[in-house]
Amino acid sequence: MSEHSKTLSVYRFWQKKLVEWKDDISHLIYPNSCLVCDRETPHKKNQICHLCETELHLTHFENYLEATKLDKLFWGRVQLEATYSLLHFEKENSTQAILHGIKYQNKKNLAREMGKRIGANLIKIEKFNTLDCLVPIPLHPKKEYQRGYNQSLLLTEGISQFTNTPSLENALKRIKHSDSQTKKGRFKRWENVQQTFKIDKKSLNKYKHIALVDDVVTTGATLEACVQEIQKSYPELKISILSLAIAN
Ligand SMILES: [Zn+2]
Repeated sequence: MSEHSKTLSVYRFWQKKLVEWKDDISHLIYPNSCLVCDRETPHKKNQICHLCETELHLTHFENYLEATKLDKLFWGRVQLEATYSLLHFEKENSTQAILHGIKYQNKKNLAREMGKRIGANLIKIEKFNTLDCLVPIPLHPKKEYQRGYNQSLLLTEGISQFTNTPSLENALKRIKHSDSQTKKGRFKRWENVQQTFKIDKKSLNKYKHIALVDDVVTTGATLEACVQEIQKSYPELKISILSLAIAN
């Protein structure tokens, strides 16, 4: 490696670290800033301001007696016990800012807070009463290293606080590094996620009903691939899906 590229990689390393720390530091200096918009709020630590609260696009799926859009998305694809998503996602709506924050702006506390809200609603849904384990959708190790955390694991930590279910972060592994999915068509995405995940064969032995946790469901291809991979080893296991957001 040349001197120049060494300097460049050191520079890039610290630049990335600074972006990572920015959120942590700003919450140290302004502990009352809103988790979503960063404006100062009169509330306690780690809260969402009144304006951002009113702008949340909640699904209210916890009140549905009929099948939700998320349930229907998986009909005819994989057998699921239950599904739940907290927010509707559309381009330019507030959910987009929340997802961007937890994926790219190091907003870990926001991810945990959103997880808590999912958990608080789950305990109202009868089908989730038997839930005994949470499995976050893994990132590829390289991507997790770059980002510094897995946002689905943070959501899972928040959910656990309400449901008291353990989270198994190593049950599933992402073995293929897939490119950004956003510009691919539906079939390409489906093709891309096949054989992307591997299950650790003994990890789920003692559980009867697990939930996979992801940040956003668009086509559902990623979750479908995970469910299929798990069902190969555990055909009797009940599997549910939890996500922060569902794309409209
Ligand atoms: Zn706000």
